[in-house]
Amino acid sequence: MIKGSCCCEAVKFELLSVPSTMGTCHCSRCRKAGASAIVFVKKGDLKWVQGKEHVKLYQPEAPYKYGRCFCALCGTSLGEILSDEDSFPVSANALDTDCGLKNQFHEFVCEIPSWYKICDDAPQSDGHPEQV
Ligand SMILES: [Zn+2]
Ligand SMILES: [Zn+2]
Repeated sequence: MIKGSCCCEAVKFELLSVPSTMGTCHCSRCRKAGASAIVFVKKGDLKWVQGKEHVKLYQPEAPYKYGRCFCALCGTSLGEILSDEDSFPVSANALDTDCGLKNQFHEFVCEIPSWYKICDDAPQSDGHPEQV
């Protein structure tokens, strides 16, 4: 079982199985939200331990459609942890347990700032990868 939490530990959750994929989104929104490294979690695998009421959703204006959740007390980025989708991204940085996955893709590499260097061989794309 994989544990996750925010910085202040008001929010705690568990993943009942290993996420399906790990990836890195380099778009400016993920970068600013501090949620570039993401793991994809199946809805049934997310178990809330405490603090769901502290999780707030930032929903960007169109054309951007992906909301970002964070702890309202400490600001920790949690990915799309309130999503109703069957599979949704959760910030890998919020996990306390090493889930054992390696990064499997880089998306929106066209938005990488000059000071950032990719240090693995995972496939890169300028938008969303073909299959996630
Ligand atoms: Zn917190
Ligand atoms: Zn992004």
